[in-house]
Amino acid sequence: MIRLENVSKRYGDTLAVDGLSLHVPPGELFACLGPNGAGKTTTIKMLCGLLKPSVGRVSVGGFDLQTQGDRARQLISYVPDQPFIYDKLTGREFLEFIAGLYGMEPVHAARRMDEVIAIFHLGEFVDDLTERYSHGMRQRTVFASALLHEPKLLIADEPTVGLDPKSIRELKRLLRQLADGGTTVFLSTHTLDIAQELADRIGIIDRGRLIGCGTLDELRSAAAHDGSLEEVFLRLTETDPCA
Ligand code: ADP
Repeated sequence: MIRLENVSKRYGDTLAVDGLSLHVPPGELFACLGPNGAGKTTTIKMLCGLLKPSVGRVSVGGFDLQTQGDRARQLISYVPDQPFIYDKLTGREFLEFIAGLYGMEPVHAARRMDEVIAIFHLGEFVDDLTERYSHGMRQRTVFASALLHEPKLLIADEPTVGLDPKSIRELKRLLRQLADGGTTVFLSTHTLDIAQELADRIGIIDRGRLIGCGTLDELRSAAAHDGSLEEVFLRLTETDPCA
Protein backbone atom coordinates (compact mmCIF):
# COMPACT_ATOMS: atom_id res chain seq x y z
CA MET A 1 0.00 0.00 0.00
CA ILE A 2 2.91 2.33 0.85
CA ARG A 3 6.21 2.27 -0.96
CA LEU A 4 9.07 4.66 -0.28
CA GLU A 5 12.13 4.16 -2.45
CA ASN A 6 15.35 5.81 -1.37
CA VAL A 7 13.54 8.96 -0.29
CA SER A 8 15.41 12.00 1.02
CA LYS A 9 14.18 15.45 1.94
CA ARG A 10 16.39 18.45 2.50
CA TYR A 11 15.37 21.80 3.99
CA GLY A 12 18.30 24.10 3.22
CA ASP A 13 21.22 22.64 5.17
CA THR A 14 19.04 20.18 7.13
CA LEU A 15 18.73 16.66 5.77
CA ALA A 16 15.41 15.81 7.46
CA VAL A 17 14.95 12.41 5.76
CA ASP A 18 17.95 10.48 4.49
CA GLY A 19 17.62 7.60 1.99
CA LEU A 20 14.44 6.07 3.42
CA SER A 21 13.12 2.87 1.81
CA LEU A 22 10.03 1.20 3.21
CA HIS A 23 7.16 -1.03 2.11
CA VAL A 24 3.94 -1.27 4.14
CA PRO A 25 1.46 -3.93 2.90
CA PRO A 26 -2.35 -3.45 2.96
CA GLY A 27 -4.02 -3.91 6.35
CA GLU A 28 -0.85 -3.41 8.36
CA LEU A 29 -0.70 -1.11 11.36
CA PHE A 30 2.74 0.44 11.05
CA ALA A 31 4.20 2.76 13.68
CA CYS A 32 7.00 5.11 12.81
CA LEU A 33 8.86 5.68 16.07
CA GLY A 34 11.52 8.25 16.77
CA PRO A 35 12.49 11.22 18.91
CA ASN A 36 11.37 14.77 18.13
CA GLY A 37 13.12 16.08 15.04
CA ALA A 38 13.80 12.56 13.67
CA GLY A 39 11.94 13.21 10.41
CA LYS A 40 8.57 11.57 11.09
CA THR A 41 6.34 14.51 10.12
CA THR A 42 8.42 15.18 7.01
CA THR A 43 8.01 11.53 5.98
CA ILE A 44 4.26 11.70 6.57
CA LYS A 45 3.90 14.90 4.56
CA MET A 46 5.70 13.26 1.63
CA LEU A 47 3.38 10.23 1.94
CA CYS A 48 0.36 12.53 1.70
CA GLY A 49 1.78 14.46 -1.23
CA LEU A 50 2.05 17.67 0.84
CA LEU A 51 5.83 17.78 0.38
CA LYS A 52 7.92 16.67 -2.58
CA PRO A 53 10.93 14.48 -1.85
CA SER A 54 14.27 16.03 -2.84
CA VAL A 55 15.28 12.55 -4.06
CA GLY A 56 13.41 9.24 -4.44
CA ARG A 57 9.93 8.00 -5.12
CA VAL A 58 6.78 7.67 -2.99
CA SER A 59 3.72 5.67 -4.02
CA VAL A 60 0.44 4.76 -2.35
CA GLY A 61 -1.76 1.94 -3.65
CA GLY A 62 0.52 1.72 -6.69
CA PHE A 63 0.04 5.40 -7.60
CA ASP A 64 3.09 7.65 -7.67
CA LEU A 65 2.47 10.72 -5.49
CA GLN A 66 4.20 12.97 -8.00
CA THR A 67 2.73 11.78 -11.28
CA GLN A 68 -0.63 10.34 -10.10
CA GLY A 69 -1.11 12.39 -6.96
CA ASP A 70 -4.90 12.76 -7.37
CA ARG A 71 -5.40 8.99 -7.64
CA ALA A 72 -3.15 8.36 -4.64
CA ARG A 73 -4.80 11.02 -2.47
CA GLN A 74 -8.26 9.48 -3.03
CA LEU A 75 -7.02 6.49 -1.03
CA ILE A 76 -5.57 8.50 1.86
CA SER A 77 -6.86 10.26 4.93
CA TYR A 78 -4.42 12.29 6.98
CA VAL A 79 -4.88 13.41 10.57
CA PRO A 80 -2.17 15.96 11.39
CA ASP A 81 -0.78 16.45 14.90
CA GLN A 82 -2.53 19.83 15.14
CA PRO A 83 -5.85 19.09 13.43
CA PHE A 84 -7.63 22.02 11.90
CA ILE A 85 -11.33 22.39 12.45
CA TYR A 86 -13.57 25.35 11.65
CA ASP A 87 -14.59 26.90 14.97
CA LYS A 88 -17.77 28.46 13.64
CA LEU A 89 -19.19 25.16 12.41
CA THR A 90 -20.88 22.49 14.46
CA GLY A 91 -19.34 19.04 14.39
CA ARG A 92 -22.10 17.88 12.05
CA GLU A 93 -21.58 20.83 9.69
CA PHE A 94 -17.86 20.07 9.67
CA LEU A 95 -18.56 16.44 8.72
CA GLU A 96 -20.96 17.61 5.98
CA PHE A 97 -18.28 19.97 4.69
CA ILE A 98 -15.70 17.17 4.53
CA ALA A 99 -18.20 14.82 2.82
CA GLY A 100 -18.69 17.57 0.22
CA LEU A 101 -14.93 17.91 -0.30
CA TYR A 102 -14.74 14.21 -1.07
CA GLY A 103 -17.70 14.52 -3.44
CA MET A 104 -19.70 11.94 -1.51
CA GLU A 105 -23.20 11.28 -2.78
CA PRO A 106 -25.69 12.78 -0.20
CA VAL A 107 -27.51 9.57 0.82
CA HIS A 108 -24.23 7.70 1.25
CA ALA A 109 -22.72 10.68 3.11
CA ALA A 110 -25.70 10.81 5.53
CA ARG A 111 -25.35 7.07 6.26
CA ARG A 112 -21.61 7.30 6.81
CA MET A 113 -22.07 10.37 9.05
CA ASP A 114 -24.45 8.41 11.28
CA GLU A 115 -21.90 5.59 11.43
CA VAL A 116 -18.89 7.73 12.35
CA ILE A 117 -20.94 9.73 14.87
CA ALA A 118 -21.78 6.42 16.57
CA ILE A 119 -18.24 4.99 16.34
CA PHE A 120 -16.65 8.09 17.89
CA HIS A 121 -19.49 8.77 20.36
CA LEU A 122 -20.04 12.28 19.00
CA GLY A 123 -23.82 12.24 19.49
CA GLU A 124 -23.89 14.36 22.64
CA PHE A 125 -22.02 17.32 21.16
CA VAL A 126 -22.08 16.97 17.37
CA ASP A 127 -24.62 19.82 17.05
CA ASP A 128 -22.60 22.24 19.22
CA LEU A 129 -20.11 24.70 17.74
CA THR A 130 -16.65 23.09 17.65
CA GLU A 131 -15.15 26.16 19.38
CA ARG A 132 -16.59 24.72 22.61
CA TYR A 133 -14.93 21.32 22.16
CA SER A 134 -12.14 19.95 24.34
CA HIS A 135 -8.99 18.65 22.64
CA GLY A 136 -10.30 15.08 22.88
CA MET A 137 -13.66 16.03 21.33
CA ARG A 138 -11.90 17.83 18.47
CA GLN A 139 -9.61 14.87 17.91
CA ARG A 140 -12.54 12.47 17.78
CA THR A 141 -14.38 14.76 15.34
CA VAL A 142 -11.31 14.97 13.10
CA PHE A 143 -10.84 11.19 13.12
CA ALA A 144 -14.54 10.79 12.29
CA SER A 145 -14.14 13.18 9.34
CA ALA A 146 -11.00 11.34 8.21
CA LEU A 147 -12.85 8.02 8.07
CA LEU A 148 -16.03 9.32 6.39
CA HIS A 149 -14.99 8.30 2.89
CA GLU A 150 -13.56 4.95 4.06
CA PRO A 151 -9.94 5.53 3.08
CA LYS A 152 -7.67 2.61 2.25
CA LEU A 153 -4.84 4.30 4.15
CA LEU A 154 -5.16 6.30 7.35
CA ILE A 155 -2.12 8.36 8.29
CA ALA A 156 -2.02 9.90 11.76
CA ASP A 157 0.78 12.09 13.09
CA GLU A 158 1.24 11.67 16.87
CA PRO A 159 -2.47 10.83 17.30
CA THR A 160 -2.41 10.33 21.06
CA VAL A 161 -0.72 13.60 22.06
CA GLY A 162 -2.93 15.64 24.39
CA LEU A 163 -5.55 12.91 24.85
CA ASP A 164 -6.60 11.62 28.26
CA PRO A 165 -6.00 7.93 29.07
CA LYS A 166 -9.59 6.89 28.29
CA SER A 167 -9.51 8.58 24.86
CA ILE A 168 -6.11 7.01 24.16
CA ARG A 169 -7.51 3.58 24.95
CA GLU A 170 -10.52 4.16 22.68
CA LEU A 171 -8.33 5.44 19.87
CA LYS A 172 -5.98 2.47 20.13
CA ARG A 173 -8.93 0.09 19.98
CA LEU A 174 -10.29 1.87 16.93
CA LEU A 175 -6.98 1.92 15.06
CA ARG A 176 -6.58 -1.80 15.72
CA GLN A 177 -10.14 -2.47 14.47
CA LEU A 178 -9.49 -0.47 11.31
CA ALA A 179 -6.33 -2.43 10.52
CA ASP A 180 -8.07 -5.73 11.27
CA GLY A 181 -10.79 -4.64 8.81
CA GLY A 182 -8.20 -4.15 6.05
CA THR A 183 -7.39 -0.43 6.31
CA THR A 184 -3.68 0.29 6.31
CA VAL A 185 -2.75 2.51 9.26
CA PHE A 186 0.48 4.48 9.37
CA LEU A 187 1.11 6.45 12.51
CA SER A 188 3.98 8.34 13.97
CA THR A 189 4.74 8.40 17.65
CA HIS A 190 7.56 9.22 20.01
CA THR A 191 5.85 7.06 22.65
CA LEU A 192 7.39 3.60 22.88
CA ASP A 193 4.36 2.10 24.66
CA ILE A 194 2.00 3.04 21.83
CA ALA A 195 4.25 1.43 19.22
CA GLN A 196 4.91 -1.67 21.32
CA GLU A 197 1.26 -2.27 22.18
CA LEU A 198 -0.40 -1.43 18.90
CA ALA A 199 1.80 -1.89 15.87
CA ASP A 200 2.21 -4.95 13.65
CA ARG A 201 5.59 -3.54 12.65
CA ILE A 202 7.65 -0.66 13.92
CA GLY A 203 10.06 1.52 11.97
CA ILE A 204 12.64 3.30 14.11
CA ILE A 205 13.71 6.58 12.59
CA ASP A 206 16.58 8.60 13.96
CA ARG A 207 18.15 11.67 12.41
CA GLY A 208 16.26 11.04 9.18
CA ARG A 209 17.41 7.44 8.78
CA LEU A 210 15.43 4.24 9.21
CA ILE A 211 17.73 2.39 11.60
CA GLY A 212 15.44 -0.54 12.36
CA CYS A 213 12.23 -1.98 10.97
CA GLY A 214 10.19 -5.05 11.83
CA THR A 215 8.13 -6.73 14.51
CA LEU A 216 9.29 -6.30 18.08
CA ASP A 217 10.96 -9.72 17.89
CA GLU A 218 12.73 -8.80 14.65
CA LEU A 219 13.93 -5.56 16.19
CA ARG A 220 15.15 -7.50 19.23
CA SER A 221 17.23 -9.80 17.05
CA ALA A 222 18.57 -6.86 15.00
CA ALA A 223 19.66 -5.22 18.25
CA ALA A 224 20.87 -8.54 19.69
CA HIS A 225 18.88 -7.67 22.78
CA ASP A 226 15.92 -9.51 24.26
CA GLY A 227 14.47 -6.66 26.31
CA SER A 228 11.68 -4.12 26.06
CA LEU A 229 11.22 -1.88 23.05
CA GLU A 230 12.82 0.91 25.08
CA GLU A 231 16.00 -1.12 25.55
CA VAL A 232 15.98 -2.23 21.90
CA PHE A 233 15.44 1.37 20.78
CA LEU A 234 18.34 2.62 22.90
CA ARG A 235 20.58 -0.20 21.69
CA LEU A 236 19.77 0.52 18.03
CA THR A 237 20.19 4.28 18.31
CA GLU A 238 23.45 3.88 20.21
CA THR A 239 24.89 1.47 17.63
CA ASP A 240 23.79 3.59 14.68
CA PRO A 241 26.97 3.80 12.59
CA CYS A 242 26.13 7.36 11.53
CA ALA A 243 25.45 8.54 15.09
P1 ADP B 1 9.59 14.82 13.74
O1 ADP B 1 8.23 14.80 13.14
O2 ADP B 1 10.20 13.46 13.86
O3 ADP B 1 9.64 15.57 15.04
P2 ADP B 1 10.27 16.61 11.54
O4 ADP B 1 10.04 15.88 10.28
O5 ADP B 1 9.26 17.62 11.97
O6 ADP B 1 10.58 15.59 12.72
O7 ADP B 1 11.68 17.38 11.41
C1 ADP B 1 12.88 16.76 10.95
C2 ADP B 1 13.98 17.81 10.85
O8 ADP B 1 13.66 18.73 9.83
C3 ADP B 1 14.19 18.62 12.12
O9 ADP B 1 15.57 18.89 12.24
C4 ADP B 1 13.41 19.89 11.85
O10 ADP B 1 13.96 20.97 12.56
C5 ADP B 1 13.61 20.04 10.35
N1 ADP B 1 12.47 20.73 9.70
C6 ADP B 1 11.18 20.31 9.70
N2 ADP B 1 10.41 21.14 8.97
C7 ADP B 1 11.23 22.12 8.50
C8 ADP B 1 11.05 23.27 7.67
N3 ADP B 1 9.85 23.58 7.18
N4 ADP B 1 12.13 24.03 7.41
C9 ADP B 1 13.35 23.71 7.89
N5 ADP B 1 13.61 22.64 8.66
C10 ADP B 1 12.56 21.85 8.97
